[in-house]
Amino acid sequence: MPRPILATVHTQALRHNLERARQAAGGDAKVWAVVKANAYGHGIERAFEGLRGADGFALLDLAEAERLRALDWRGPILLLEGVFEARDLELCSRLNLWHAVHSSEQIDWLAAHKTHQPHRVFLKLNSGMNRLGFQPEAFRAAWARLNALPQVDEIGFMTHFSDADGARGIAHQVAAFEAVTRDLPGERSLCNSAATLRHASTPLAADGQPLTLAADWVRAGIMVYGGAPDHPERTAADWGLMPAMTLASRLIGVQDLTPGDTVGYGSAFVANRAMKVGVVACGYADGYPRHASGSTATGGIGGPVLVDGVRTTLLGRVSMDMLAVDLTPVLAAGRNAGLGAEVVLWGRSASGAVLSADEVAQAAGTISYELTCGVAQRVPFVVD
Ligand SMILES: *Cc1c(COP(=O)(O)O)cnc(C)c1O
Repeated sequence: MPRPILATVHTQALRHNLERARQAAGGDAKVWAVVKANAYGHGIERAFEGLRGADGFALLDLAEAERLRALDWRGPILLLEGVFEARDLELCSRLNLWHAVHSSEQIDWLAAHKTHQPHRVFLKLNSGMNRLGFQPEAFRAAWARLNALPQVDEIGFMTHFSDADGARGIAHQVAAFEAVTRDLPGERSLCNSAATLRHASTPLAADGQPLTLAADWVRAGIMVYGGAPDHPERTAADWGLMPAMTLASRLIGVQDLTPGDTVGYGSAFVANRAMKVGVVACGYADGYPRHASGSTATGGIGGPVLVDGVRTTLLGRVSMDMLAVDLTPVLAAGRNAGLGAEVVLWGRSASGAVLSADEVAQAAGTISYELTCGVAQRVPFVVD
């Protein structure tokens, strides 16, 4: 028997969350399902069935775009960072990829590109994130250059928000975007998951047009995988999102502790009473975050976990292949706390209980994106 750890991708949850993105975007907005980083670690091929109802797929990697075409996806694919060198444009032509244009070098490459089929591009504005995109002062000139190229067919406009999930908000970036794109023809794409959920219905002043921030396209990433972009202010349940991935394993050992006994490396947990501890086949070499460990600062109590559907906590440090959990609440609930009992590290238990990756991530000082992207190669996956 293989080690009992298993990741499951939930097709129905992906479908449901995609529908939530559609609802949140409202109106006629189209939805890019963002499938970069191998669909946030879910696997493009495994997530495809659940996400094929999207209007398009957005990603970064040409090889990932090829994999989508190999799945017979004929619809739009957008390269969010555009091309990385001139010859990437050949593959863009061949696979009919739309691509972001965020630098003058990318325009130079297009100008020198020989293609029968003109390209569809999204010109990217740096509206304040200061990652990719043209500064507002340079944006119009970049547009004029692109617009004059026979290699370019339609030009859309995009920008990316730094604070859609937080207090600073997006108004300053929306104003910058509006100021430089207002009178230019073409599709617009502004919202990531956080902006889609929190701001998409906000009116966007556009010369009398009844536009909302959702504009023509939203770019829904974490929300389609069931993560709340603004956790813990709002939870996945608050947003009506379902986990698209379950990472589950089983108890492979049970220890009876007496007061004064310790658990794991560094003896970070010390029992002050008789108790049962379960040992789970999951460790940081599976991609589980070691920072969810209990420490002396937390009295040895670590992040949340479900054992046979009952919520409990990690005890002591996460090690490479194993972690330990408190079985007290599981026994109190009369559930299975013996060898072979189901342990859900994040996702959905067979009993229906849910532990969102957001909560585990919070306990580890990170975000759920990092957890799902980081499930290790040695963990087998199935799709349900
Ligand atoms: C990753 C990414 C998104 C999706 O962000 P989420 O927070 O996962 O919704 C949207 N737009 C761009 C440009 C991205 O790089």
